[in-house]
Amino acid sequence: MAKELTDVLRDWEAVIGLEIHTEITAARTKMFCGCAVAFGGEPNTRVCPVCLGMPGALPVPNEAAVQWTVLAGLATGCAIAPWSQFHRKNYFYPDMPKDYQISQYDKPFCESGSVLIEVDEDGVAERVDRAQPDVADAGLQLAADGKTYATTIGITRIHLEEDTGKMVHLGGSEGRIAGAVNSLVDFNRAGTPLMELVSEPDLRTPEEARRFVQKLRLIWQAIGISDGNMEEGSMRVDANVSVRRRGEVEFGTKAELKNMNSFKALHDGLVYEIVRQAALLESGGRVVQETRHWDATKKVTSALRSKEEAHDYRYFPEPDMVPFEFSSEYVQRIRERLPELPDARRARYVRDWGLPTFDAAVLTADLELAAYFEEALELAGSRASELAAEVAKLLVNDLRAYLNAAGVGPVDSVVRPAGVVELVALVDGGTISGKQAKEVFAAMCGEAGASPAEIVEKRGMRQLSDTSQLATVIDGIVAAHPDKVEAYRGGKAGLIGFFVGQVMRETGGQANPQVVNELLQERLTP
Ligand code: ADP
Ligand code: ZN
Ligand code: MG
Repeated sequence: MAKELTDVLRDWEAVIGLEIHTEITAARTKMFCGCAVAFGGEPNTRVCPVCLGMPGALPVPNEAAVQWTVLAGLATGCAIAPWSQFHRKNYFYPDMPKDYQISQYDKPFCESGSVLIEVDEDGVAERVDRAQPDVADAGLQLAADGKTYATTIGITRIHLEEDTGKMVHLGGSEGRIAGAVNSLVDFNRAGTPLMELVSEPDLRTPEEARRFVQKLRLIWQAIGISDGNMEEGSMRVDANVSVRRRGEVEFGTKAELKNMNSFKALHDGLVYEIVRQAALLESGGRVVQETRHWDATKKVTSALRSKEEAHDYRYFPEPDMVPFEFSSEYVQRIRERLPELPDARRARYVRDWGLPTFDAAVLTADLELAAYFEEALELAGSRASELAAEVAKLLVNDLRAYLNAAGVGPVDSVVRPAGVVELVALVDGGTISGKQAKEVFAAMCGEAGASPAEIVEKRGMRQLSDTSQLATVIDGIVAAHPDKVEAYRGGKAGLIGFFVGQVMRETGGQANPQVVNELLQERLTP
């Protein structure tokens, strides 16, 4: 019986570094030719002599893709190389018609960046040797729940290359080449601008790895470089992982898990691999440096091939293209295109709108939800500051629950920002109670364009704030509970809650709690 990750991590430390490929879907055309970039479609229809590797065809670099990569580097704190170039990476495989891939080698566009991640996970928050970064600098505040921590993950480099074609293996199991009878190749994807980010071996748990990729995806979406769709392969992750005994300084031998195509696969594959390597070493074995495949159905990793070395590829500078020299003015012009990044936006929500850290984190982790929130505040106009925290709370709780249940995103939500603002204003103005607001919200989810005010009117849900009416109810309750009244007057102040509860019961939850409280205080004070 294999040990649990938590047990393994007591004696062992995992070391993880990721290589993350992102298709620059924003570039619209391929890296070295004018063919369109898109997903799917009839095979081999978006091709030309360049991306098919015909003799004599010459590459012309896509400047937009180069700029997007520089922008990605700037968004992740990288230094942009003043001098860089493309190299040829030579290998034979049918998905690459030229028999080499144009990539970057020792002169990538971007180097030495970093990204801040936050992790809140019980049990495996195994981060013994790390100093906590000063997150206050980034305007962030960590939840003081004893398990949330932040850490900085180094980015070694970001470079640009061209994607390969797509192989389809027929007749084998689960589409793999092993056991296949026929293999087909579709070059529609060949030549798509592909950005590769290599991280430092700074990650220590599968959860950290997942958070890191999620954070990068959010940044890529925020700067508009990619849709980050992992199912469609817009983002693909190779995970390098090794283990070492706690306290050991040297890294262990790593294995590489190829093409993890979901956050769950990445996480689960790493858990399996860490447990496997530790067990192997404990039983006197040795980890072999190799590439492994994660089988999400069988939930195991298996050896694919022994790891190739850089010199196997016979890298040499691409002779068909001149090197790149970025002036500081050029880089500055690209920097000016940087939008507000997710961390900054989150800090702003806390600072300017007074949101709790958690709500700000949830809203800014989803670009559509953040846009929804900002649209609501825009509609709230001069009342935005007053209503912001309540609007946020409603989005984080009620709206998200509805979206999850309906399986739609904020953009397709039946409940629109205008409705949310109207509803929150009804509660704020005392027309309905918070409890009644839940009922109104449920009704809004059932009918596109339903107005909260109309729902309140139709259902006769107005909150009872009429003092003489409430005073009558209170008189009855006071008369029915002389013992409690005496106890309250004798100093048991907590009994106020009992009386409020009684009034709520009598009025079917419609009484305005604030008014009830005031009236009770008055009535019970001798
Ligand atoms: P290779 O030369 O085998 O490609 P690199 O040094 O280029 O290895 O690193 C590739 C990736 O593997 C990087 O993300 C790096 O952080 C990570 N990495 C390097 N050494 C280790 C190790 N011992 N354990 C885990 N990850 C590692
Ligand atoms: Zn082409
Ligand atoms: Mg390498």
